[in-house]
Amino acid sequence: MSSIAENIALIRQNIAAALSGGDRAVLLVAATKMNDAARVREAIAAGVDACGENRVQEFAEKNALGAYAGCPKHFIGHLQTNKVNKLVGQVDLIQSVDSEELLRLINRRAEVLGIVQDVLIEISIAGEAQKSGISPDELDAILRFASGCAAVRVRGLMCVPPIRQNPDENRPYFAAMRQLFVDNSSKKYDNISMDFLSMGMTDDYPVAVAEGANMVRIGSAIFGSRQY
Ligand SMILES: *Cc1c(COP(=O)(O)O)cnc(C)c1O
Repeated sequence: MSSIAENIALIRQNIAAALSGGDRAVLLVAATKMNDAARVREAIAAGVDACGENRVQEFAEKNALGAYAGCPKHFIGHLQTNKVNKLVGQVDLIQSVDSEELLRLINRRAEVLGIVQDVLIEISIAGEAQKSGISPDELDAILRFASGCAAVRVRGLMCVPPIRQNPDENRPYFAAMRQLFVDNSSKKYDNISMDFLSMGMTDDYPVAVAEGANMVRIGSAIFGSRQY
């Protein structure tokens, strides 16, 4: 087995352990930034559920090389409004939508293409000023706005909490995300279905899964640490 395949097998075991007997499906998204097409293909061969890229340019380059063949494609990084037209319709899920303006532009482009674009709403759950994401108080308004965007479907929520020495410190944030997810699942807005709760990265995914994540985004634990 390649080390990438071994790493993925270990992550699957850790996810199963974090579910402690529960059999909820947890989708494993490989965060593929700074890993080349060959390494991305290895991760796909080893059975990740999706690949997530952070930058539109890097995504487009690797996509042109066929890096993601056979695997769902996600965008997980900060999306600039001027990159929207390059991305909509190219990926299965845009996880990082955090403004009405982005929704409006995504909707407009998806209409032109005649498709419906799936997205998640990114929440700044720890209220860190420098981070992307809306505050939890803004969620209802953005969902109402999204329900008027016929070419966009909101599939759930995503967050990137602070980096911690001790991942348990993020437990309250994951629990708060889970509560938002549950509270909004019962709302009956058009074009909104709370299917995915995307949280947990290399350092904290077992905690995120224990607190209710059904989608984790993992880079270094699959590919090794990134060389910047
Ligand atoms: C890079 C990245 C990840 C994965 O980070 P690791 O700590 O390497 O697992 C997850 N989510 C987002 C948005 C990222 O940019």
